Amino acid sequence: MSTSERVAFIGLGNMGGPMAVNLQKAGYAVSAFDLSADALGKVREQGVTAATSASAAIEGAQIVISMLPASRHVEALYLGEGGLMGSLPAGTLVIDCSTIAPASAQKVAAAAKARGVAMIDAPVSGGVAGAAAGTLTFIVGGDVPALERARPLLQAMGKNIFHMGEAGAGQVAKLCNNMALGVIMAVTGEAIALGVAHGLDPKALSQMMAVSTSRSWATEVCNPWPGVLENAPSSRGYAGGFGNDLMLKDLGLAVEAAMGIGATIPLGEMARNLYAMNKQAGRGGLDFSSVVKLMTNEG
Ligand code: NAD
Repeated sequence: MSTSERVAFIGLGNMGGPMAVNLQKAGYAVSAFDLSADALGKVREQGVTAATSASAAIEGAQIVISMLPASRHVEALYLGEGGLMGSLPAGTLVIDCSTIAPASAQKVAAAAKARGVAMIDAPVSGGVAGAAAGTLTFIVGGDVPALERARPLLQAMGKNIFHMGEAGAGQVAKLCNNMALGVIMAVTGEAIALGVAHGLDPKALSQMMAVSTSRSWATEVCNPWPGVLENAPSSRGYAGGFGNDLMLKDLGLAVEAAMGIGATIPLGEMARNLYAMNKQAGRGGLDFSSVVKLMTNEG
């Protein structure tokens, strides 16, 4: 399949790289850029055109997709000195898939609107495996016509698309999900640690919980206790999975978003501290379920 639409893809890291390749495979002409020559080289090997700068990548593109680390990178790319928003023609569609502060997403979307550029925030869930397999979930904020225009591209990179509301709503929803996940993972670890301290078998306890009222993704799929689930990161030294530092980042964004409107998130704030402590204990690069080690006196 091929399409006449040209796509500029900026940010080719763990997530953006495989996403850009999936778009290319779906027939889009993708011109990509990353500050890292390594990241750029990897997608070039898979047929994606490597551009020499973000400005060069957007030449002739009708659609721009970005997948960058944090708010400051996204604001700099679009609104900074020589930023893309100054040169994108009216009618261009911008899809930012990075996880950033809702306020930043709204700021960039407002600048886009003033220029006649359509924009959606479309942060993702599904991790590196989902990016590679093209099974990501997109959590979208922005107006319906922009989403409908983006839909075929999102479908080439993912499986589920949820429209949450206007600009920034995708980011808010993503933070709500990850805040709940962070809290649930920590308390699940705490509960299993309590049981084990009383002599219970962690596997038997987890099996009971997985079909009882505390059932969750943390008991069923990514159990934090080593040896309970063979395929969980906990059973391979917490390697792979969703990094503690990424969870810490998302909880920081949740705290920031709560403070911005005076909302109270006592458990979210506590969870942010737990993942910060887990990072200080040297586990920032490990799967976030390693937070259980704080409850087993392992640092
Ligand atoms: P990453 O650090 O692997 O990749 C980010 C890339 O952006 C890097 O290659 C970096 O060189 C590039 N970059 C930074 N500034 C740039 C600029 N101005 N121009 C061009 N390239 C630039 O990060 P990642 O894991 O791919 O995550 C990307 C986003 O997705 C983050 O917002 C993250 O929170 C979110 N996310 C990640 C995961 C995950 O499991 N990794 C899951 C869901 C969401």
